[in-house]
Amino acid sequence: MSIACYPGSFDPITNGHLDIIRRASKMFDEVYVTIMVNPKKKVTFSQEERKEMIEKCVANLKNVKVVIGQGLTVDFAKQLGAVSLIRGIRAVADYEYELQQATANMMLNDEIESIFFVARPEYSFLSSSVAKEIAVNGGDISKFIPSEISDFVLQELRK
Ligand code: ADP
Repeated sequence: MSIACYPGSFDPITNGHLDIIRRASKMFDEVYVTIMVNPKKKVTFSQEERKEMIEKCVANLKNVKVVIGQGLTVDFAKQLGAVSLIRGIRAVADYEYELQQATANMMLNDEIESIFFVARPEYSFLSSSVAKEIAVNGGDISKFIPSEISDFVLQELRK
């Protein structure tokens, strides 16, 4: 059975993330969307809130599970039985960071392959921070944040 781990902050999940999850779910028997801590980022939503939001959005994808990860991504992926790490690339800026992470992960465990999905053009500018910025300033987030969670996101950000 081929298992993939898609690690990220997902603070919150966007339509860009969801598109990658759908595409990965067609290629692997099981996909674990894994909420990891990124020490470079200050988060808005708790890990449990992020997990619940993702679960609502992937309820119709039977081979997708959501977990909270800890420790090194490759170690956590190995515990899941994953053979691949899924990441998304939007622009050159992502590429440099992703290349560094993937190479470090390869040094740590070369049995787990990093696989990159190119963002769809309509989501190539989209990040959780952009979506939050739009939400906080009263903009329409319907094109950026899955409808299942948009009320909750707006309610939390406009408190
Ligand atoms: P991290 O803090 O680990 O970068 P993110 O939630 O920001 O977590 O992103 C997780 C992964 O999803 C990263 O590989 C990122 O490049 C990718 N990603 C984020 N937004 C998009 C998008 N709009 N389209 C495609 N991939 C994306």
